[in-house]
Amino acid sequence: MTDTALINGSFVAAEQASISIFDRGFLFADSVYEVVPVYAGRPFRLEAHLSRLADSLAAVGIDNPHQHGDWVRLLNDLINVNGGGDQSVYLQVTRGAPARREHRLPQDVDPNIVAFCQARRPPPPATLADGVAAVTRRDTRWARCHIKSTSLLANVLAAAEAHAEEATEALFIDEADGVVEGSSSNIFAVVDGRVLTPALRPAILPGITRGVVLDVLAANDIAHHMVDHLPLTALRRADEIWICSSSREIMPVTQLDGVTVGNGRPGDVWAKVYGALQEVDHE
Ligand code: PMP
Repeated sequence: MTDTALINGSFVAAEQASISIFDRGFLFADSVYEVVPVYAGRPFRLEAHLSRLADSLAAVGIDNPHQHGDWVRLLNDLINVNGGGDQSVYLQVTRGAPARREHRLPQDVDPNIVAFCQARRPPPPATLADGVAAVTRRDTRWARCHIKSTSLLANVLAAAEAHAEEATEALFIDEADGVVEGSSSNIFAVVDGRVLTPALRPAILPGITRGVVLDVLAANDIAHHMVDHLPLTALRRADEIWICSSSREIMPVTQLDGVTVGNGRPGDVWAKVYGALQEVDHE
């Protein structure tokens, strides 16, 4: 699945694909990215991913290197040369590789564009049957997590701490003891019979899957609320907790910081939303 990569408009063997050591994505994490799941050869919610990519690029002042139609064509070509089917496209745009490493922004440097495919790993049946464990962590990230930047060290370290505790995800908690999002997922909770999710703000990535889940909730008349503050105390007494992302789809969390969530089983509301999600057109 990792056979052919895309580098600046050319398709190359992935193991031979390389980027300069002066690339600012490498030196400063001066770059943004997307991960697009592919079902049966078709990129899911590509429009939304490309729109978020455009927002991320604009937010950090990198010119979007392609028109919308060119992105669509290039990414579909990449999927096809890698055999179509179920996979996941990783796409990164960096500010480019000027001749010198210095903090100030370079003039007249073209962005570098890298994309490759990986096997998609949908949630295994055991995860759907039993749910997963999550732990909470103080949110130590920067204040602009709505930008999908590759500066993910705090996310990676929090996820590693979660894995060390045999948990699947770390959930970030802000200074006001509010729930923010996971290290690589957004979060929903069913509290007192209401589906809640933190409202978007700069601390939160506007997840594409979060948007799909909100659409599914609305389409199925399931009452839901985007809240400015989702207290950790509410999460601790939630009947259900879900995490969602392009890679994880929507997973039930049945343990939080070692304590059972609700009745310890994936909840009824989750089952309904998960079922409806399978019916969504995966174009
Ligand atoms: N928040 C963070 C921090 C993430 O890394 C991700 C996964 N990219 C998400 C949320 C979920 O976003 P999406 O549904 O677009 O994959």
